Amino acid sequence: MLKVLDSAVPVACWSCAVAHNDATLFCPHCSKIQPPPGGDYFSVFGLVPHLDLDLSELEHEFHRLSRKLHPDRFARAADNEKQWSLADTALLNDAYRTLREPIHRTEYLLKLHGAAIGEEHSGKDRKDPSRVPADLLEEVFELNMQLEEMRAARKMGETDAELQASLEQAKRKFDGLMDEVDHDLRAQWKAWDEGDAGARAAAQKAMVALLDRRRYLNNLVRDVTETLGA
Ligand SMILES: [Zn+2]
Repeated sequence: MLKVLDSAVPVACWSCAVAHNDATLFCPHCSKIQPPPGGDYFSVFGLVPHLDLDLSELEHEFHRLSRKLHPDRFARAADNEKQWSLADTALLNDAYRTLREPIHRTEYLLKLHGAAIGEEHSGKDRKDPSRVPADLLEEVFELNMQLEEMRAARKMGETDAELQASLEQAKRKFDGLMDEVDHDLRAQWKAWDEGDAGARAAAQKAMVALLDRRRYLNNLVRDVTETLGA
C-alpha cells in the first residue's frame, strides 16, 4: 500500500489562485503545471516518507507524471511553464531514481530524519581496525593479507590457484553477509513504517548501523573483485 500524503503546506496556484498543497506538480483545480515544489522526493509522488514502497505503483506514477511533463505538451505554453516542465522533470527523475532503489531510498529517508549517513560521517579511515565490525575482525585481517599476497604475486607475473580459490570463497561469504544485511534492513523498514516515535527511533538507529556494515562489506567485495580481476 502506498501511504498517501494528505497534509502539506497550502500554496495558491499561480494561475487560478486556488490553494493546494505545495507538493504537487500540477494544480488539482485548473491542472496547470506548478513550479518545482519544495518538499521531499516522497511528496513528488504524493507520498508520506516510508520505506516499504510498492514499486509497481511508484513506476506507474512516474510514467504518468513523466507523460504529463513532456516538453511536447508545453510547445505553445508560456516561457515560465516551459521552464517548469524541464525543472519538474529533472526533480521527478531524481526522485524516482532515489526512491526505486532500496538502499538509496533508506539512506535518503534517514537523512531526511537527521541521521548522519555515509563514509564522510564515519570520521575514520576505512583501514582503521576499530572500524571493522567486531565479528569480522579475524576474517578481514586474513583477507587483507591474502589480498596483499595476491597483488604481489600478480606483480611478479605469477598465478596462485589456491590463493585465487580462497579469495573467491571469501567474496562469496561477504556477498552472503550483505544479503543478510539487506534482509535485516527490510525488517527494520516495517518497524519504521508502522511504529510509534520510540519504535521509529530504534529502527532508525538499527538501520544506520546496518548501512555502515553494508558499506563496509561492499568495500571488501569491491577490493576482492578488483584484485581478482586485475
Ligand atoms: Zn490552478
